[in-house]
Amino acid sequence: MGNKSLEVSLIGIPSNLLDVIYTACRTCYSADGAVDIFNNVTDDKEKKLSLIKRIISSGHYSTIEHIQLTFAINNISRAATHQLVRHRHMSFSQKSQRYVKEADFDYIVPVAIEKSSELLKKFNAHMEATSKLYTELVEAGIKKEDARSILPNATASSIVCSLNLRELIHLANLRLCTRAQLEIRMAIAKMCALVIEQEPWLTEHLVPKCERLGYCDEDNSCGRKPTKNG
Ligand SMILES: Cc1cc2nc3c(=O)[nH]c(=O)nc-3n(C[C@H](O)[C@H](O)[C@H](O)COP(=O)(O)OP(=O)(O)OC[C@H]3O[C@@H](n4cnc5c(N)ncnc54)[C@H](O)[C@@H]3O)c2cc1C
Repeated sequence: MGNKSLEVSLIGIPSNLLDVIYTACRTCYSADGAVDIFNNVTDDKEKKLSLIKRIISSGHYSTIEHIQLTFAINNISRAATHQLVRHRHMSFSQKSQRYVKEADFDYIVPVAIEKSSELLKKFNAHMEATSKLYTELVEAGIKKEDARSILPNATASSIVCSLNLRELIHLANLRLCTRAQLEIRMAIAKMCALVIEQEPWLTEHLVPKCERLGYCDEDNSCGRKPTKNG
């Protein structure tokens, strides 16, 4: 039992990502069939990137929906996974609190609380007391699915999530914004960094929405960009 650090792995990304997007782009504007376009795809990476960038910047986003990405995430709070699962174009498989016993559960301490040794002590004591009561409930014959009602939002979870490239860009635009909570912002930043490591051309797209809009549309702006009304 204890505070744990976020771990993110990119466990699925197509090895021919550019070929797939390029084929999708060219299929829209070519007299050739999609099969022939794919079978004769150019080896010239710059040529592929040039077309792909042009098509994306014109808002033709269906072409990047063909790219499926899968991430494995450890040590993320149930609070953050609840925020993550609000995104409706993603698929999830999450550690079950109905099937997995949460005695001695790990948890995520928010950075703001971690900074204060006095508050951290109280936070840890609360987690320990909760763990004790959870164990008591389970040992008294209460099903895990009911005993979990007392578990905190901080409880560490584990999740596999898949999404297409268009949705990753949308996710980044929303959740890299400083209005998003720090924990989910860190998780999405790690997901984006792993994708950018393999596909550096995506750097300009995996950004907070203000970078894309050129202005901030939030009520409470962090000041990174001018607000909508100047
Ligand atoms: C900073 C921040 C604060 C938030 N605070 C709250 C809060 O206080 N309370 C709360 O309940 N939620 C809150 N949310 C969650 C938010 O309301 C959205 O549910 C979440 O961000 C998912 O965004 P989305 O709907 O754009 O994206 P996704 O679900 O990922 O969907 C992507 C896009 O697909 C389209 N789409 C998807 N489903 C539909 C549909 N049914 N009909 C039409 N178009 C659709 C939309 O264009 C949408 O933008 C917050 C989110 C952020 C980033």
